[in-house]
Amino acid sequence: MNIDTIALHAGYHGGNGEPHALPIYQSTTYNYDSTDHIGQLFDLTADGHMYSRISNPTVACVEEKIAAMEGGVGAVCTTSGQSATFLSLTNILSAGDHFIACSEIYGGTVNLLAVTMKRFGIDMTFVSVNDPDEVIEAAFRENTRAVFGETISNPSIDLLDIERFAKIAHRHGVPLIVDNTFATPVLCRPIEFGADIVVHSTTKYMDGHAVVVGGVIVDSGNFDWNASGKYPGLTTPDASYHGLVYTESFGRAAYITKLRVQLIRDLGTYPSAFNGFLLNLGLETLPLRMERHSKNAQIIAEYMEKSDKFESVKYPTLESHPQHELAAKYLPNGCSGVISVVVAGGRDGAARFLDHLKLASQVVHVADIRTLVLHPASSTHRQLTEEQLVAAGITPGLIRFSCGCENVEDIIADIEQALQYV
Ligand code: PLP
Repeated sequence: MNIDTIALHAGYHGGNGEPHALPIYQSTTYNYDSTDHIGQLFDLTADGHMYSRISNPTVACVEEKIAAMEGGVGAVCTTSGQSATFLSLTNILSAGDHFIACSEIYGGTVNLLAVTMKRFGIDMTFVSVNDPDEVIEAAFRENTRAVFGETISNPSIDLLDIERFAKIAHRHGVPLIVDNTFATPVLCRPIEFGADIVVHSTTKYMDGHAVVVGGVIVDSGNFDWNASGKYPGLTTPDASYHGLVYTESFGRAAYITKLRVQLIRDLGTYPSAFNGFLLNLGLETLPLRMERHSKNAQIIAEYMEKSDKFESVKYPTLESHPQHELAAKYLPNGCSGVISVVVAGGRDGAARFLDHLKLASQVVHVADIRTLVLHPASSTHRQLTEEQLVAAGITPGLIRFSCGCENVEDIIADIEQALQYV
């Protein structure tokens, strides 16, 4: 099936006399007829839901849908994009390990990876998406266990050459983890280019209506943990399940099963059934929305590039984007609604422009059905040092313009009236 059909039909199909829409199973627990069956659930030898801190039937349908959309063997939803990123790494890294991340990523992820995870004894090195192979290779250490990057970076709109990074990671026997939040599987499926694990902040386009914070981790099932020999957590006995070995018991689903039954079980970051239901509604129209977001953004980026009130405009399909050839390869059907643009007049110019927009809302959010704007240097990326801001591609006048699904003429009229004040 094509992705627009998958978005509507995967995960749930009501049988004879059953609800047509995905039901909300608002229950913390599940009934079983025998102690023996419950014992099997705890031994992971029987399938089924036992407790909603670990899994829930409504959320499970959404997980199946997202896994199908990304082309993975399984997925686990989480309470936020941040917890998805954290779990995707800590499922295979422990204190004393190291990983490599691209510096062109969301500011909150920088804090998580470079500050909080460091406190837990997990070290990391930043490289740029534009670094040549030799520089990235040189960042590997004997204890490196993963490489992490964003398909389209927030907010600098740099692109990750997924195939190149996957090849480098695989040469060192480690997986590539890709945050595919801005592209969504509608515009890019990183697994097809060699990514091993895909994460999302579902808070963004997947929900798309600014109603539910969430995240998801998708396992491609393609990484050979045994052959790598670097992941004892997956290939040697887990004492918390009587010595079960994930790769032996779950094969290609070893990574995603461990993440659920060990980390989600222990850390308790599983979403509610109602949040799963809302996310599913968003997913149903995701392909339609991504097409409109991308079309609107293309027109608006071209409009902005012609105006001298903007010093620079970064959108992947523009010829001026240094990586526009990668856009043709990875994002042939559109590049999402997010444009990174530098307003003339620096921080003041950006503030005057934003404060006079009427249709576009200033919010701490991006990738939504309504047009949104934000000044990263004074908000999402506020905790970053000047050096980190530069590495993340953020200048004082930079704003993140997230084109919604309104009529594009109305968005442009709003921009035009606000530009009078710049
Ligand atoms: N990844 C990206 C690319 C993001 O833009 C965000 C949030 O803006 C996150 C991860 C974190 O997601 P959440 O806010 O759902 O925790």
